Amino acid sequence: MDDKKRDAILLRERQLKERAQDYLKAKKSIPTGMNNMKVILKRKEKIKRIFNATEKQWNDWKWQLKHTIKDIDILSKIIHISEQEKEQIKEVGSKYAWAISPYYATLMHETDPSCPISRICIPRIEELNDNTGTLDPMKEEFTNPAGLITRRYPDRVIINVTSECAAYCRFCQRRRNIGKSYGMAPREKIIESIEYIKNNIEIRDVLITGGDALMLSINELEWILEKVRAIPHVEIIRIGTRVPVVLPMRITKSLCAMLKKYHPLYINTHFNHPMEVNEFSKAAIEKLVNSGILVGNQMVLLKGVNNDKHVVRCLNHELLKIRVRPYYIFHPKSVKGTAHFKCSIDEGIEIMEHLRGYTSGLAIPYYIINAPGGLGKIPILPKYLVSQENDTYVFRTWEGELISINDS
Ligand SMILES: *Cc1c(COP(=O)(O)O)cnc(C)c1O
Repeated sequence: MDDKKRDAILLRERQLKERAQDYLKAKKSIPTGMNNMKVILKRKEKIKRIFNATEKQWNDWKWQLKHTIKDIDILSKIIHISEQEKEQIKEVGSKYAWAISPYYATLMHETDPSCPISRICIPRIEELNDNTGTLDPMKEEFTNPAGLITRRYPDRVIINVTSECAAYCRFCQRRRNIGKSYGMAPREKIIESIEYIKNNIEIRDVLITGGDALMLSINELEWILEKVRAIPHVEIIRIGTRVPVVLPMRITKSLCAMLKKYHPLYINTHFNHPMEVNEFSKAAIEKLVNSGILVGNQMVLLKGVNNDKHVVRCLNHELLKIRVRPYYIFHPKSVKGTAHFKCSIDEGIEIMEHLRGYTSGLAIPYYIINAPGGLGKIPILPKYLVSQENDTYVFRTWEGELISINDS
């Protein structure tokens, strides 16, 4: 090889190594579940003692649900809460339900008020001081042709089979429904929804969600899956659930044995921060994936949780390591009571800008803004097509270099 060529290769290699440095440095200060297993296990023992629970009880998802934390006195035994915060949580709680599974509470920092996990699940007074949003910005009530169906697209629908979750996210888009009913939605409503799908042969993709679809018992869920699978024009079934993140013990062998009878079946889950990826969520995901279920992730862009290019990259790497494929990043919706999570679209674009090129295509989800009024998802990308004139296109590479391509 001549020296000139060799120099060019080395120069390029140095440039690429340089492009990796920012993230390598930033990563050191991002807390991940995998790097914090010792702390998580210590907190788990502490919370078990508070509830006087055995290991067997702790690992039983029904025990977890029965002991969901909704009480300020129990919460204040787990993390530090000031008297003022206690009053505020009570005040918010009288308007919006809150609940945290004992398991999810092991991910919260005891004293750090900026803990992203606490921000996700502990009520804050800002929820009551938000005069900007509306309770149903997606107008789900107007895109509900029958039963529990939401329809925004030609070939696929959502069925909301429950309003229950194992932990209530403070930014929930369906918070208007939360804490009002428990368990599976009325059977006649579900039957009405399934009849709608039967009568509309263009529906080939059915997304069963909630609330959290995996809050149902195996029998309840199978009662639904059986009927949906029996419809000849339904090609794929999807389940929306946050259980692998907030209640991983719910993913039992018997649940997986039931689910795998209804393939092709896909699951989308909802990790928002690398702290949520740990040995417990990994074990839950592993059971699903080993049952042949592809698991995707839908993150919500949230101020103070993950509105940071390095945190998102780290999250997506941690997800791929446990075999979850990042699917969507949702721009936060203007749901009343969630303004303190608001991010700008520029922040979202900046995050996307620092994924493409910098990391595996597999670690790059679509960034989506939901059109208000239920008009569907809109993908947002950084601008890579800079200009077009006749057959000449000017593009920008991931590093910002302009190149011109003639397409004639
Ligand atoms: C998000 C959504 C879907 C699924 O959309 P995909 O882009 O196919 O994942 C289907 N129906 C409704 C009402 C939705 O909001």
